[in-house]
Amino acid sequence: MKHIGVLTSGGDSPGMNAAIRAVVRTACHLGARVTGIERGYQGLIEGALRPLDARAVGGIVGLGGTMLKSARCEAFFEPEGRARAAQTARDAGIEGLVLIGGDGTYRGALKLETEHGMACIGLPGTIDNDIGGTDFTIGFDTALNTALEAIDRLRDTALSHDRIFFVEVMGRHSGFIAIMSAIAGGAEEVLVPETLTDIDDLIEALRASRQRGKMSSIIVVSEGDDAGKAMDVAKQVEERSEFKDTRVVVVGHLQRGGPPTAFDRILACRMGVRAVEALLDGERGKMVAIQGLDLVLRPFSDAWEVRTKFDADYLKIAKILAT
Ligand code: ADP
Repeated sequence: MKHIGVLTSGGDSPGMNAAIRAVVRTACHLGARVTGIERGYQGLIEGALRPLDARAVGGIVGLGGTMLKSARCEAFFEPEGRARAAQTARDAGIEGLVLIGGDGTYRGALKLETEHGMACIGLPGTIDNDIGGTDFTIGFDTALNTALEAIDRLRDTALSHDRIFFVEVMGRHSGFIAIMSAIAGGAEEVLVPETLTDIDDLIEALRASRQRGKMSSIIVVSEGDDAGKAMDVAKQVEERSEFKDTRVVVVGHLQRGGPPTAFDRILACRMGVRAVEALLDGERGKMVAIQGLDLVLRPFSDAWEVRTKFDADYLKIAKILAT
């Protein structure tokens, strides 16, 4: 294989640029050409292509976002859209693709491979850490640290004014950011989609905390919690208890951007190198994953078939340390 394409797809995550750089420079090192595809599958359909050499990816290892831009692409859900994308790739002489994205991106890649024989290798890029088969995704650590910084800052005011803060962090189906930032930030309570939330239990826990002498509380709420978003949870607590003056902070899209942490940069660099080596070695239909300390190649289907969940001990740890 002498010519590969690289694209970023789905939601952006910090470290995607470091991954693009690693892909391009590894390909150069191994004697292959690289074409950058803009705006994910949309750009592949429209032919938004540009050659990338080692110099074209200079200075981006520490930048958040993605220099190739990312997009969601409705047309790619249809066979005609995928046929047009495959034609663009063929016309440009692209023999294989490295795709940086989430499970949706892999579902699309699997179809491109099955229907049109395009060799595809994926890298997990998403802040929620909700891709099966890999312990970590590129961008999660940065998002976690951003959420943590917000909690640290809010703690100052919570302590100074004896306030209750509800802090909403990202994670529609996964409480990774919530539980990890709660432990690291010393939050009093944490609500995650993985466990059922009982508002009365939460109120009781807040009362018990007061009785132990704590006058302020930080409650981290995963955006996908079954009790609702932070605003809904705060409203329910205020309606049902003596805690009438709570504050809500939604960290929101701040978690998506910013310079990637060292962990995310190194993960992206390692995965980018492995992806190109794998593609040139004839591997396809797989994502590069990290399990323990090791990089492994896993079938795309792991992304949606293997359940991602954090160690149940984390909830216990958060509870014990909040006393
Ligand atoms: P992520 O890759 O982060 O999970 P999305 O779920 O938005 O993000 O998927 C990114 C893109 O991948 C979609 O906009 C669409 O173009 C393509 N895609 C997702 N799911 C499928 C599918 N089942 N079949 C074909 N293409 C898909």
